[in-house]
Amino acid sequence: MDKIYNDFFGDFGGRYVAEVLRPALDELQDEWVDAMNSKDFRSELDLMLTRFAGRPTPLMYAENATRVLGGAKVFIKLEGLSNTGAHKINNVLGQALLAKRMGKRRIIAETGAGQHGVATASVCAKLGLECTVYMGEVDIKRQRPNVFWMELYGAKVVPVSGGQATLKDAVNEALRDWAGSFKDTHYLLGSALGPSPYPDMVREFQSVIGKEVQREIEQQKLDVEALVACVGGGSNAIGFFHPFIDTENPRLIGAEAGGKGKGVGEHASRMSGEGKLGIVHGYKSLFLLDEDGQVQPTHSISAGLDYPGIGPQLANLGIKGRVEFTRVMDSEALEAVQFFAKHEGLVFALEPAHAGAAAMKLAGELPQDKSIIVNMSGRGEKDLFILARSLDRQKWYSFLRSEVKGNEK
Ligand SMILES: *Cc1c(COP(=O)(O)O)cnc(C)c1O
Repeated sequence: MDKIYNDFFGDFGGRYVAEVLRPALDELQDEWVDAMNSKDFRSELDLMLTRFAGRPTPLMYAENATRVLGGAKVFIKLEGLSNTGAHKINNVLGQALLAKRMGKRRIIAETGAGQHGVATASVCAKLGLECTVYMGEVDIKRQRPNVFWMELYGAKVVPVSGGQATLKDAVNEALRDWAGSFKDTHYLLGSALGPSPYPDMVREFQSVIGKEVQREIEQQKLDVEALVACVGGGSNAIGFFHPFIDTENPRLIGAEAGGKGKGVGEHASRMSGEGKLGIVHGYKSLFLLDEDGQVQPTHSISAGLDYPGIGPQLANLGIKGRVEFTRVMDSEALEAVQFFAKHEGLVFALEPAHAGAAAMKLAGELPQDKSIIVNMSGRGEKDLFILARSLDRQKWYSFLRSEVKGNEK
């Protein structure tokens, strides 16, 4: 393989970092290209994806949902069956094996909801790497169960109190650590964004999703009208879409968080909303910014879609019209979780429930000989506290009260 990195995607991407980080990113870029050219590295990664992460994940025909929706056949790619419950592990395994190959002994990562932190902590435990995860104090409060899992895997979770004490502040803190530690430390970034080479490297590691789907489409001779994925930073979507972006079909549809409404701080819709060109976290893309160029607050019922920016390659594909974007409200995502649980025995995580909701609308508008494929990027167990509070508040709260009382005795 020659040059598989790409500094810019149209106007987006690049590498806008402090001078001290340049050598770290140069080294990473060279070592990554070298690794991808190595048969040994690729087969080691394949083996871990199979034996540890549980790949390939199934492509399931959702026949009950299809019948109820009365239109196109709905298929679901079950990324949620992976170890640690989401697609995040594909990228984490790739980067962690690369870090080992580079002779690094320590991994640092940022996490928002904690899903990327959990995948990173798990893989570091498996590969014998020291692991530090930066997490905003606000997120630590909101996502206690994931903090518990990370610590169980032996990771150190460092609370970040600066700024809004959420994901973007955790990224800044991780970059600060890395500037002083890159000789023995790899920064394991969690989505297809950040300074080059991260967007393309993460996309490459997540493309395993799209490659498996492409093989199934050929084997089953499916007439696929559309692929639908949720878009936070964009890693599950770009990995799923990647083998198809240079062809005209199928339609590629990204579902963004419409949240509670269109006001400032009520959503995280950059492409179907009002994203503006900016440079944040070392890359140029579309972000939710105020008049002064400051990052605006965001909201989504799903913590993984609650990010003010979007990966540069997806931003470019959106501007060019290859990827369509649609906004899905919190309430629609909750309905989709219930729909697929009742009809398919699958609990979607709240993030891919946005894609599920978009697919529910689309399926009904299409003829029965067409197919659409939804990427279920994660399973919903992690959302127990949010789902139970939203769907069954009284019983859930009385359970929590009795747990607390029981422990105080
Ligand atoms: C983190 C996460 C996302 C959002 O991240 P992307 O980089 O946009 O894929 C989506 N789904 C799940 C289950 C996640 O954990």
